[in-house]
Amino acid sequence: MNSSCNICVIGAGAVGKSSALALAQAGHEVVLLSPDASTTGKPEHWDLRVYALNHTAHALLSSLKVWDAMDASRIAPVDAMAIHGDDSGTTPNLGFDAYGARVGTLAWIVEDHNLNNALDSALRFAPGVRRIASSATELEIDAESAEIVLDNGDTITCSLIVGADGANSWVRGQADISIDYRSYNQNAVVANFECELPHHGTASQWFLGADGIVALLPLPGNRVSLVWSAPEPLAEKLVAEPPAALCDRLSQLPGMTLGQLTMLPPSKSRAFPLRLIRTHSPIANRVALVGDAAHVIHPMAGHGMNLGFGDIDALVAALAGRDNAADCGDSRTLGRYARLRKEEVLLMQLATDGLQRLFATELTPLRHLRNAGMRLVDKLPFLKRRLMSHAVGRAASLPTGE
Ligand SMILES: Cc1cc2nc3c(=O)[nH]c(=O)nc-3n(C[C@H](O)[C@H](O)[C@H](O)COP(=O)(O)OP(=O)(O)OC[C@H]3O[C@@H](n4cnc5c(N)ncnc54)[C@H](O)[C@@H]3O)c2cc1C
Repeated sequence: MNSSCNICVIGAGAVGKSSALALAQAGHEVVLLSPDASTTGKPEHWDLRVYALNHTAHALLSSLKVWDAMDASRIAPVDAMAIHGDDSGTTPNLGFDAYGARVGTLAWIVEDHNLNNALDSALRFAPGVRRIASSATELEIDAESAEIVLDNGDTITCSLIVGADGANSWVRGQADISIDYRSYNQNAVVANFECELPHHGTASQWFLGADGIVALLPLPGNRVSLVWSAPEPLAEKLVAEPPAALCDRLSQLPGMTLGQLTMLPPSKSRAFPLRLIRTHSPIANRVALVGDAAHVIHPMAGHGMNLGFGDIDALVAALAGRDNAADCGDSRTLGRYARLRKEEVLLMQLATDGLQRLFATELTPLRHLRNAGMRLVDKLPFLKRRLMSHAVGRAASLPTGE
């Protein structure tokens, strides 16, 4: 059987689902193709996968009626950030807060299932999106259209393929888009904790030199979510050791203000490998990549998903301004999409990669320099506000003058 549509989105992670919704809302006829079953279901525990979503994400998800469909009681606003260097001081080297940044909140911590459940509900009612639970096995692209062959022999003909199939993107390979790949030789160890003392909506981060980067993100109530980007041998140790040992390690962090920690069920941490993936281009003939298919960055800044939502905004804008109304896969339109994304993606790749390298080094002069550098930035309101403007996202662009 052959079916046709304007746009076929391949991959139904949060970025793929949001792409399908946003493109349909913009008037396109969309197929969302993924072998994954819907993730809807009530979780037993606090989700180990959480995202710090910024104002770009908030604006997009609100416009798709997804934000309000999430369970608000499980979303924690981030009102402040406290960043510690490895000079063992008990006061943070650098701090940001929503008041100083002139926004209501810096970011929101959202669980993966909460976001995906809301996206699945929105997709069930969205006019213009057809969801097909199948895998693509072949892709044929010519001047007029793209054809996708499915594992059951069916075919889909469309003008544009949106590759939203994650870091190991099949679409990217089929479109011959080459990448630079580098493993950070680190794993992100994640776990959730009940804490004795309130976090006051503060996200705390410790740059620990050779031991990596620890982030404790606020969850609703007296709970926090850990992301410890640790060198592989340490990460293996952290995952293998009893929960109480990890709690002890965290309690000993300099300037830690949360008192005694207790690991929440499932009382086991999980680890995710960390890598940098740079695509040489986010586009090819009738193909646009979005989300992790287009770029994978270190999670220290909590921005991978946010970048994916920025991709969606840019793709919708590029399509809205296209010269050839009949053809969504027109090369000039895709070129506009690539140009719209170039600066932000490059900036985020350079910033996270550069900071990761700077803070991984044990050279004493560099250690002093980076710790002093953070304290200096803390005293420069103009620079601080510029940094915040990038972090909180486009929709909340902040005034940078004093
Ligand atoms: C520890 C950690 C913490 C993070 N914290 C944050 C954070 O705080 N804030 C933030 O913004 N980002 C964060 N990120 C990054 C964020 O998780 C990713 O950027 C985001 O999940 C990417 O979403 P995606 O939809 O592009 O890809 P994925 O979530 O990987 O989804 C891809 C989908 O495509 C499907 N798929 C794969 N192959 C195929 C195929 N051949 N055909 C069809 N479907 C296919 C997969 O099954 C999957 O459903 C973090 C990452 C890590 C590792």
